[in-house]
Amino acid sequence: MNNITKDSVYEALKKIIDPDLNKDVISAGIIKGLVIKGGNVGFTLEVEPDQGNNKEPVRKACESAVMKLPGVISVTAVLTAELAKSNKPSNNSAIRQSPKPEIESKRKENQAEPRGVPGIESIIAIASAKGGVGKSTTAVNLATALAMQGNKVGLLDCDIYGPSSPKMLGLSGKPEIIPPNRLKPMEAFGLKCMSIGFLIDEDSPMIWRGPMVMSAIEQMLREVEWGNLDILVCDLPPGTGDAQLTLAQRVALTGAVIVSTPQDIALLDVRRGINMFHKVDVPVFGIIENMSYFVCPHCNKRSNIFNHGGAEKTANQMGIEFLGQIPLDILIRQTSDDGTPITVHEPNSEHSKVYCMMAKSLAENIASATASGHRQPPPIKIM
Ligand code: ADP
Repeated sequence: MNNITKDSVYEALKKIIDPDLNKDVISAGIIKGLVIKGGNVGFTLEVEPDQGNNKEPVRKACESAVMKLPGVISVTAVLTAELAKSNKPSNNSAIRQSPKPEIESKRKENQAEPRGVPGIESIIAIASAKGGVGKSTTAVNLATALAMQGNKVGLLDCDIYGPSSPKMLGLSGKPEIIPPNRLKPMEAFGLKCMSIGFLIDEDSPMIWRGPMVMSAIEQMLREVEWGNLDILVCDLPPGTGDAQLTLAQRVALTGAVIVSTPQDIALLDVRRGINMFHKVDVPVFGIIENMSYFVCPHCNKRSNIFNHGGAEKTANQMGIEFLGQIPLDILIRQTSDDGTPITVHEPNSEHSKVYCMMAKSLAENIASATASGHRQPPPIKIM
């Protein structure tokens, strides 16, 4: 039995001083979203967008202060930069009162108008705050479901660190080069697909830094002969760091979908992901709960291995649509590993029907976002 309370956590955090604000983190009002689940504690520190790196020592100090409390098993403190200007405390630090000119110009540079891709009507991002939650499996099945519903669909595997769509779609080999320097996308199950997995050795380690990740993604986006597409589904790298933020700023995304498992601690990061998209004015079309529950194929008993329902709760709290839940199921894993997504392999299965239902809501969301003119790509120029 542990008796961690919000008050005891706040007490511990009160001892941590933010040197920029010259006060403790509680009085400074930067601690938000405290969640206590058993011995696991999670919260966010809201900081200025350009202060992320500077605040790392404060974040770490907060984590270790809470970790020392009796009964605490884990602490997840995350830095977020989501305070609207009007919400800032009035007694700010010098940094807040006089932003350095170079920081301001960097901000402006990052805020360059996002660009679409000629011929592609809408670009959607499938994102997750963490790896291994089933983001790629969901992206592939949504893409095939959208194609089966009559849309012209492309799948861009932006998961530079762990490209999995070639395997999930049973594709191998190198894409054809269209002279002088464009690539022809690979095709499977009515989808056009491009992935870094086609271009590098399967065993070569991917130790890429932010700008390299972005330039690889831009090339796969803009130097590939996609032709005319209704929807390009982008399977983003996991996380909500610089690479994801830059992508969301530079590419005219019509909207984003967030995939999560149901646990509270995972969902803390989901909030951060949603806030990241909001910050760059990309609508979040919905949250999907993957690995939502497990039904034993032998005794039919249901277990909530990773808890259950957390994504729907978070969606409701944040005013975002809950697109649905997908269970943890061996057939989903097997069909992905074997290179034929379940939506194609067993289109009439219960799980495929759920993917198709989610794809339908997604298509409706895309249609209304496009109709309202939100981030429409530029028209095709005929030279
Ligand atoms: P991510 O893209 O988030 O890293 P993946 O889609 O690659 O995650 O999935 C990680 C592993 O989990 C893969 O082996 C995949 O087959 C499996 N997986 C994903 N979703 C499910 C599910 N609903 N049921 C069973 N296995 C799943």
